[in-house]
Amino acid sequence: MHEYSIVASLIERVAREATPRRARVHRLHVAIGELAGVDVALLRTAYDTFRERTVCADAALDVRAVAAAWRCPRCDEALAPGAPLQCPTCGRPARLCAGDEIVLERIELEVPDV
Ligand SMILES: [Zn+2]
Repeated sequence: MHEYSIVASLIERVAREATPRRARVHRLHVAIGELAGVDVALLRTAYDTFRERTVCADAALDVRAVAAAWRCPRCDEALAPGAPLQCPTCGRPARLCAGDEIVLERIELEVPDV
């Protein structure tokens, strides 16, 4: 399942940041585009299944939904949501500029005092 592999790679990324610092992970902030093909409910289930015994065991998962946005590649004109995927000025096919991303935006860590 797609969501499980996303979670596996997220936790791996977090571990790469947290483990060398011996940090406790409090929260992950993830941005998910509406066209990323990710089922957010499934992602949360996958996260809860996977995080046990990882650096993320006590970390909350924050998901920010990102709406799809389209622009003309030539005029850089932004298309209105729901409009045909074509530039109203020059007629070019629009290009997706947001909404297909899966991004780990921020990790809240607590690094112990040395
Ligand atoms: Zn255009």
